[in-house]
Amino acid sequence: MFISVDELKEAGLLLNLEEPLIAFPVLIEIADSGSCQFVGPVTIQAKVFKIHEMVVVEGLAAVCATFTCSRCLKEFEQSVSSDFVLTYCRELPQVEVEVEVDGEEEGAELSADDMGLILFDGQKIDLSESIQEQLVMALPSRPVCDEKCKGLCPQCGVDLDLASCDCRPQAVSLKMAALKDFKVKKT
Ligand SMILES: [Zn+2]
Ligand SMILES: [Zn+2]
Repeated sequence: MFISVDELKEAGLLLNLEEPLIAFPVLIEIADSGSCQFVGPVTIQAKVFKIHEMVVVEGLAAVCATFTCSRCLKEFEQSVSSDFVLTYCRELPQVEVEVEVDGEEEGAELSADDMGLILFDGQKIDLSESIQEQLVMALPSRPVCDEKCKGLCPQCGVDLDLASCDCRPQAVSLKMAALKDFKVKKT
């Protein structure tokens, strides 16, 4: 997934890409670890344009994946997508910032990261790594099939979206009893 910088015209460029998963080793690693399975390719729609010596890529990356709901353990499919603005440059602009160290002003250099820039060499920009990073950050840490999912009863394991059980009130009363004991001990 390369952008040829020399061929980039003033008017910019529209990207509409489908990239196979094989181009994203970290996503494959995540799938291998079992936390989700990716379905189909990664799609990227983006505008690419030059601003002075910088190349800006602005768009949306998405991939479909199946997750296991962290509440009810059912499998469900969901699209993982991320809006992004990536700014690439060959060298960092000269920016000096004054930092106070032990009461004395010192010049400090900002890193590419500090400035939100990505460095590249040569005539080509490889988008894969940054897009991959965007998608990894967009993955849910606790996937939920539905915000309203009630999940499984922690005691009898019944799916509370499909049925109800008598465990819940009991669990609450047990907690109340424990709380009462605690108060008694404290006084
Ligand atoms: Zn669920
Ligand atoms: Zn139950």
